[in-house]
Amino acid sequence: MQQDSDILGFTRVRRVAPIGIATHGGRAKCLQRLIRLDLPVPETVAISFDMVHRLAEGELFDIAALLRVFGERPLLSVRPSSEDPDWGGPGAILNIGMNDQRQSELAAKYGQHTADRLYLEFVQTYSVNVERVDAELFEFDGSVDLGDAVRAAKVAYLEETGEDFPQDPAVQLGQVLRSMARAWEGTTARLLRQAKGAPADAGLGLVVQAMSLALGDGECGHGVVQLVDGETGAPGTYGTYKRHTPAIDPHNAPSMPLASESEKSFQYDQPELFRAIVEATQLCRHRLRDEMELKFTIDNGELRVLDAIRVPRSSRAGLRVAVQLAEDGIIPRHEAILRVPARSLTELLHPRVDPLARRAVVAHGIAASPGGACGRIVFTSSAAQAHEARGEACILVRRETAPEDIRGMHSSVGVLTERGGVTSHAAVIARGMGVPCVVGASIRINTRAGTVTLEDGRELKEGDILTIDGTAGEALMGEAKMLPPAKDHWYLTLMDWADSIRDLGVRANADTPTDAAMARDFKAEGIGLCRTEHMFFEGDRLTVMREMIFADGNNDRREAIARLLPMQRSDFIELFRIMEGLPVCIRLFDPPLHEFLPSDRRGARELADALDRPLSEVTRRIEWLSEFNPMLGMRGVRLGITFPEIYEMQARAIFEATIEASKSGRAVVPEIMIPLVSAKREVELVKTQIDGVAAAVRNETGADFTYRLGVMVETPRAALRADEIAQHAAFLSFGTNDLTQMTYGLSRDDAGRFMNAYVQQGVFPEDPFHTLDTEGVGELLEIGAARGRKSSPNLTLAVCGEHGGNPESIAFCRAAGFDYVSCSPFRVPVARLAAAQLVA
Ligand code: PEP
Ligand code: MG
Repeated sequence: MQQDSDILGFTRVRRVAPIGIATHGGRAKCLQRLIRLDLPVPETVAISFDMVHRLAEGELFDIAALLRVFGERPLLSVRPSSEDPDWGGPGAILNIGMNDQRQSELAAKYGQHTADRLYLEFVQTYSVNVERVDAELFEFDGSVDLGDAVRAAKVAYLEETGEDFPQDPAVQLGQVLRSMARAWEGTTARLLRQAKGAPADAGLGLVVQAMSLALGDGECGHGVVQLVDGETGAPGTYGTYKRHTPAIDPHNAPSMPLASESEKSFQYDQPELFRAIVEATQLCRHRLRDEMELKFTIDNGELRVLDAIRVPRSSRAGLRVAVQLAEDGIIPRHEAILRVPARSLTELLHPRVDPLARRAVVAHGIAASPGGACGRIVFTSSAAQAHEARGEACILVRRETAPEDIRGMHSSVGVLTERGGVTSHAAVIARGMGVPCVVGASIRINTRAGTVTLEDGRELKEGDILTIDGTAGEALMGEAKMLPPAKDHWYLTLMDWADSIRDLGVRANADTPTDAAMARDFKAEGIGLCRTEHMFFEGDRLTVMREMIFADGNNDRREAIARLLPMQRSDFIELFRIMEGLPVCIRLFDPPLHEFLPSDRRGARELADALDRPLSEVTRRIEWLSEFNPMLGMRGVRLGITFPEIYEMQARAIFEATIEASKSGRAVVPEIMIPLVSAKREVELVKTQIDGVAAAVRNETGADFTYRLGVMVETPRAALRADEIAQHAAFLSFGTNDLTQMTYGLSRDDAGRFMNAYVQQGVFPEDPFHTLDTEGVGELLEIGAARGRKSSPNLTLAVCGEHGGNPESIAFCRAAGFDYVSCSPFRVPVARLAAAQLVA
């Protein structure tokens, strides 16, 4: 057989024939598997990647020998067989071998109409796909006699190509094979498949199969069948059947449901054949270990299986199918874990707008990325980032989005655009991020006035609250009722299996009680980063915060800070209660103070009024605190050391909350994390200070407690000096957002402006703020981890930047010996599954 294929350039698909996915493609291999299952597959021949490549270069093999495999004057189909079906390939060409002689023979056997129809279809497809003749020349309206249409089509062919329509089946087949081979090598086809992940040298195989015309007097027809719903994964018998009758084109024949109780179904009409079809599909499910869609014909009452492909499926169905196959013992659990792409979970886990609740729909558009989201309207990416920094949910409303909006989209809970379709920038990016999105909506944005006009003519402005339903493609007025994500049996089962094997911890970044509750819901093993500053942007606190910033001297500052203490304490008590004894890692205050001040004149005047101070003094202070690059100045531990009262207050709030929460629930061991460290001495100073607060609180209350002090590694220097820093720390948590920013010398707030161009030109393989730069930033992580562990073997190592929820970055962190990753609550399940896949 091997020799056959070497010499002849093709291989008969038999039980024992050298056919592999990597040499002949998935379709050829699958057909061989069907044959091995004794399913009635028509005679099939596979042409290898290598031969198809040579065909594209102009070489031809012995087509006559290939035709002989099929016996006397067969009609043939040719279909593509790439390594991965998602990479596509040229469309199938059917009825090769039709010519004048076959037309007469078929007319005598099955009637003139059928023979004319088959011939016309073939002349059309051949002319358009093989000879690249304009399709319009072969369009005939329904009133034209089919025989006349065949003659007209052949004339059109002659006029366009200067040659008669080829009558020799060998010539037809040779040309079909060569044109399909060339189509695969074309630039557009190559770019399209590369976009789907195909390597540059991906090969194409071709499958030649005897047509099963199904034209006899007995039961004849064709159909498709699958045993799950592609959208939900629910079991059932889904498919349709078209009965062939001499008078009606099979394509135009009415299709009947395959299975149903009604008398119009195939099941009712042909119970025996129906059973055979279902059994064949079940056999495929068991033996090919997946849900398959079968393409079949019934030829004079006999079943033929022409092809089988994996059932195309939604993420939700994919998960259910994987779990069901494992529950049925068809695949092992670890394989089910590997079959579900970790990222696909984000799509399943978004809250949905309650379809039964009152829906004040104010705009309709295209459902571009699923899930519901509610927030304040913002029109610019910078406004979105400002809202996020304040911990406020916002919906980015744009005419359309451009690459520079990516960061704004990241900062928003939902995106609504006036223009665009399912593959527009907004739609593609939002889906990738798992952010609900509606595009092409019936709204009008007036950028100058800063308003958006809705369907009913109402105008909304920045700050107004809007809900978007990315599943239905709607925008709703105000805050709509949401339903929690569909965490059904299959999801929960898969996640249980994943948790039982993974060896990397997963915590959540959670700043508010709502985040913490969500983190628990997603089974995070604790909070890995609580950004405390978000607590100061809320309500009265912002005013007290501003009073603290404007305080004259230490006493005034202490007085303002003392007013923040009870608020912080209650924040922490709530967090500890929600987390019920799970670790909670609280980061001390991090941002530069100017972020708490208004940025425009109107805001400054309002602040002057609120503080009862002259406007000039307010403006002077704002100017004094403003930094050119607000991320590399007086923030993090630098602020903590310059104004020690802030950290003292926070430490006290944490300890008092610890004592309070431990009274009613499980003992709390808080973790306190120092941000933006670059020197050992910073840690020593803060540690001494915090130990002092702990001693004072123990003294005052008579209660005992323990706590763990850790350091955020966010500067390259901290990574390099991790050995000495680790001597004072129970854990190191790598803040890869800042570490990436500082390693590249690239402001995380300004990177969006050119990131797209950089990635497109291959300067960076990907945006390093989304996927960890394993070479540069990654090396710092490895150095920091190794040096830290060397000087302190029991040191806990974690990552809490955005990368903590990215599957590739998670793989890197596990390999570098990290104990856990921490990411936003929605990405916790993604991280849990991605971590399990590393050991499955
Ligand atoms: C980081 O820098 O990676 C981090 C987690 O902190 P933030 O994003 O708050 O700066
Ligand atoms: Mg940081």
